[in-house]
Amino acid sequence: MASRWVEVLLSGQTTIWQRLLPGAKCPRIDYNLFFARRANVQPAKNRLKYRHNVNCLNVVVASDVIIKPMLELLTCGAAALNLILDDRQLAQFESYYRGLLAWNQQTNLTAITSYEEVQTRHFLDSLTVIQALPQPVPPGLKLLDVGAGAGFPGLPLKIACPGIALTLLEATGKKAAFLAHMTAVIELPDVVVLSERAEEAARSPEHRERYDVAVSRAVADLPALLELTLPFCRIGGRAIAQKKGDIQEEIRRSSRALEVLGGGPPGVQEVSAPGLPDRRFLVVVTKIAPTPDMYPRRSGMPAKKPLI
Ligand code: SAM
Repeated sequence: MASRWVEVLLSGQTTIWQRLLPGAKCPRIDYNLFFARRANVQPAKNRLKYRHNVNCLNVVVASDVIIKPMLELLTCGAAALNLILDDRQLAQFESYYRGLLAWNQQTNLTAITSYEEVQTRHFLDSLTVIQALPQPVPPGLKLLDVGAGAGFPGLPLKIACPGIALTLLEATGKKAAFLAHMTAVIELPDVVVLSERAEEAARSPEHRERYDVAVSRAVADLPALLELTLPFCRIGGRAIAQKKGDIQEEIRRSSRALEVLGGGPPGVQEVSAPGLPDRRFLVVVTKIAPTPDMYPRRSGMPAKKPLI
């Protein structure tokens, strides 16, 4: 039986498969499925080296193993957002997906776990925020993710724009531990993880009015969210909230919070990407005046008694 070593670049695999299997129809590669059935798998940085047997390979393909390319939905979706992800970035997203799944067994990080949905509903959805960042994204842009959870949108933004100085703020200790772990595993420099509540962190001179951008997704209703994010923004900086549904109503209820906390008139940007359901919006508020010292109020108050 013929047997040889093959090196497969994580993002260039289709070409290689076409060379290996001339005549195979649109090869789709599922690394899990495929490598689970193979011996001699040696992951090395962003490459996987494996020994394969050409005869066996033909049998596997003929027996209808589904083979699909790595992170195809993310790659295509990102391209639609004018983002070209290189091999290193794709390898980082892949590790992130694996880490998310592994930690999700013990810690409740996300209900979305399928390879396809994580690519669209987590990774791509997070990347839509780039549309509300200054363009081109300035190196060293100080970006805070308030209530980062499992890292959305902050970590995908950092992978796609490595020059960002990212701080992930998350009140739940176990989630913050995951964020610190993941940041180390995917070797992201210039990321700080804070295991703290926003109401506390915003009182520290190290964080108050220190950020160019404070982002958030699925953390609170807009009036409460503004109290949790605007205190972190410098004058001229912006709070960006990822929202779905009837945002006009939320915006109407936010006029007092905006006035009290130093926010300018909110801008609304509708965003979309291939594979993302529902209408999605970025609510962008530029900070035009300092936030008075008494805000945010003590922990829990912004949500319990929003500034309406
Ligand atoms: N942003 C992530 C996402 O979209 O997947 C997580 C969303 S999750 C529904 C909300 C997260 O915000 C939770 O992990 C929660 O612990 C965190 N959170 C809520 N209020 C917070 C606060 N006041 N300070 C810091 N984190 C907070």
